[in-house]
Amino acid sequence: MKKCARRAVIAGNWKMNMTPSTTVKAVEDTVKLTAGADCDVVLCVPFVDIVPAVKAAEGSHVKIGAQNVHYEAKGAFTGEISADMLKEVGAEYVIIGHSERRQYFGETDTTVNLRTKAALDAGLKVILCVGELLEERKSGVTAEIISMQTKLDLAYVPADELKNVIIAYEPVWAIGTGLTATAEQADEACGIIRGVIETLYSKEAAEAITIQYGGSMNDGNAAELLEKVNVDGGLIGGASLVPEKFAKIVEAASK
Ligand code: PEP
Repeated sequence: MKKCARRAVIAGNWKMNMTPSTTVKAVEDTVKLTAGADCDVVLCVPFVDIVPAVKAAEGSHVKIGAQNVHYEAKGAFTGEISADMLKEVGAEYVIIGHSERRQYFGETDTTVNLRTKAALDAGLKVILCVGELLEERKSGVTAEIISMQTKLDLAYVPADELKNVIIAYEPVWAIGTGLTATAEQADEACGIIRGVIETLYSKEAAEAITIQYGGSMNDGNAAELLEKVNVDGGLIGGASLVPEKFAKIVEAASK
């Protein structure tokens, strides 16, 4: 399967932004402005915004996701949320292993793997984030880091579940910093991840899986990044909060 056979996925990560009331207009605007999308469009919103977001996107091409999920089904885990809870309120996607979770909330590859398996078991689609720190890139170990994360995060995920997994290559130094990986760096890293999938699963699985780039992607740089053979879409933070900018990225992915 060539890149042209893979459908791009443009996903917004609202992070800790928007309230239920501001969510409605932002989702409605995103729906309208991306009406011509020829790619999948997802908005991953704060937990309390999921219900209004799902309602505002109802019947449209825009799908709603969460930004984290716990791996246990229920119990004494104050402040956490389960995959079934997300499913029941209409979330279809969940971001797992975002670098901000790894950096600020003690997320490890072990917990990322547990969350990934729980989300897939519940029928959610997972956007699994991997990426190197700036020191790691400078030390020349980017390939080792993203390969190791991909292997550990996908441990015991069976081949038939891979259709519900998107991998987002997100160099940590490019997230929310305004620094973007060059299109060549993004393509190379996404290609390395694709190679890991081939080793772990099969050539077919590697050719079929969607691998996004994330890290200060915006309406100005999206086209160049998205035309690379291994870059199948984007995970967008800041620019996803502005529907007009997000829509331009969707347009670039639809060409
Ligand atoms: C992100 O939150 O995953 C992200 C890539 O953020 P930004 O686009 O703001 O760098």
